[in-house]
Order: sequence, then C-alpha cells, then structure tokens
Amino acid sequence: MSYCIITRDDLKSKSITKELKSKIIDKYDEKKPKYVIAVGGDGTLLRAFHLYPKSIIFGLHTGHLGFYSNYLVKDVDIIAKQINENNYNVEEIDLIDVEFVDGFDNVYHDNALNEVTIIGPTRTLRLDLYIGNKFFERFRGTGFCISTPTGSTAYNKSLNGSVIDPSVKCIQLTEIAAINSNAYRTISSPMILGIDKTIELKADLEHNYNAFVTVDDKPYSLASFKQMKVSSSKNKLKMAYYNRQDFLDRISRTFLNENNWENC
Ligand code: NAD
Repeated sequence: MSYCIITRDDLKSKSITKELKSKIIDKYDEKKPKYVIAVGGDGTLLRAFHLYPKSIIFGLHTGHLGFYSNYLVKDVDIIAKQINENNYNVEEIDLIDVEFVDGFDNVYHDNALNEVTIIGPTRTLRLDLYIGNKFFERFRGTGFCISTPTGSTAYNKSLNGSVIDPSVKCIQLTEIAAINSNAYRTISSPMILGIDKTIELKADLEHNYNAFVTVDDKPYSLASFKQMKVSSSKNKLKMAYYNRQDFLDRISRTFLNENNWENC
C-alpha cells in the first residue's frame, strides 16, 4: 500500500503531517497513492481530491470539524492505525461531470465535488438554459452555480440556494445575479433537479465575452465561452470516515449555534 499527504500551509498542519509520517509504515508515494490524507480544512480536501481523484481520501481537520474532513487532531493515531492495518470505513460521495467548450472550440472535462460555476466577471453573460434537452429560459446576468448535495452548504448557500441532505440524490442550479426585465425573464428560484437531468448552457455568440468557469477551487479563465453541459457523474469520491457526525448537527454547529463548537 502507499499513501501521501496534502498539507495546508500553516504550522499546526505541518506538525501533524510530520507526526503522521512518523507513524505510518506504508510507502510514501506522490505518484499513485492508494490513500491521501488531507491535513487542514475542507479547502485542503478539495485540493487533495482534484490531485488524486481515484484515491481514498482521509480528511483531518486541524481546526474544528469540517463538512468533509471528519478526523480531528486527536485522531492522528487512529488514522495511522487504520492505514497501517488497511481497516477503515469508506463512503462514496456524489460528483458532477462538467464538459465545457470555449470560443476556439477547445473542450474541457472535469469533475466537481462542491460545484461548477460560470461567471461573467465584468460584463453580463447571455445564456440559453436547457434542462433535459428542452429549452427552459434565456438568462442575462452574472452566471450560474450548479452544485452537488454536499456542495450545497458552500457557494450555493451564499447564493440562497437550498441546503440539501446528502442522502438526497439531486443536482441544484442557482442563478448568480440575474437581470429580470421585459427582455430577459428567469425562474429566479434555485432549482433542485433529479440526477438523470442534464443541464446545458449555450452562449449567445453575438455577445461573446470572457468568462470564468470554476470547478470547486479550480478556476478556468476563458477568453470566450461557448457552451457547457453538466450532469451527475458515475465517478464517486471515496472518503474514509470515522465518528461521522449527523448532517443536521453539522449544519447547526456551523451556521446556527456557536456554542455547539464547544462540543465538537
Ligand atoms: P476559500 O478559502 O475561499 O474558503 C471557502 C470556505 O468554504 C471555507 O471556509 C471552506 O471550508 C468552506 N467550504 C468548502 N466546501 C464546503 C462545503 N461543502 N460546505 C460548507 N463549507 C464549505 O476556498 P476553499 O477553501 O478553497 O474552498 C473552495 C470553495 O469555496 C468552493 O468550492 C466554493 O464552494 C467556495 N466559495 C464560496 C464563495 C461564497 O460563498 N461566496 C465564493 C467562492 C467560493
């Protein structure tokens, strides 16, 4: 077996990484590790996932519990034991597939754990939205966020999207600053769609401005944007878990009741 560690750039995370390396007997391998330990926070786990999408990921949070990272500093020995003994629990987390094309017909593919966004940073985007191959609306505004259930508490939540229980299989589509006028009218509410639905966005090529596509923490800067297709993925994130906290407790601890942090 082999493993590697992705570490957030702070002293505490670096010191935990050193301790883990001294306790894990498997081979350290950054090329094709079976296990990846993300030491830091949820952002570190996102980076670990994008570097090693096929590995089994252990998230060790060096602060309070995160949404993905569920091992804490006090669990260092437990992670080392689970890896040394090849004995751990794994859950599969849903991902989304994205394919997008720029104005020069370059095609990009990626998987998102939290969300995919398309954003016009300076000028409004004009996009035709198709859901399940049917034309749905003509959009003008900053863009869209398309999120997974586990990503619903991230960017999507700041856009007033719904918080989704991760046991619900769906994709959420949320508008970012839509202009509603006589010429452009959009649904305005977040849409929660079944995982069989494909979402397509096609640019009005007469108004073809630069755009950012983001896939979790990864930005793609495009001189022009042509189209995007998003659907539920067959790929899954394989995540090791330990003492998994109830979803509603996690939401309440993070967003509602500061005192609950004491109990974590
Ligand atoms: P970052 O450093 O900007 O931090 C974003 C925050 O979101 C961190 O506190 C992180 O722990 C938290 N987060 C990440 N995934 C989460 C999840 N599934 N549920 C709840 N909170 C979550 O960026 P980062 O740490 O590299 O994370 C990238 C993520 O930041 C993106 O996937 C996106 O969801 C989020 N983001 C949010 C906004 C916003 O809310 N306005 C804007 C841009 C990006």
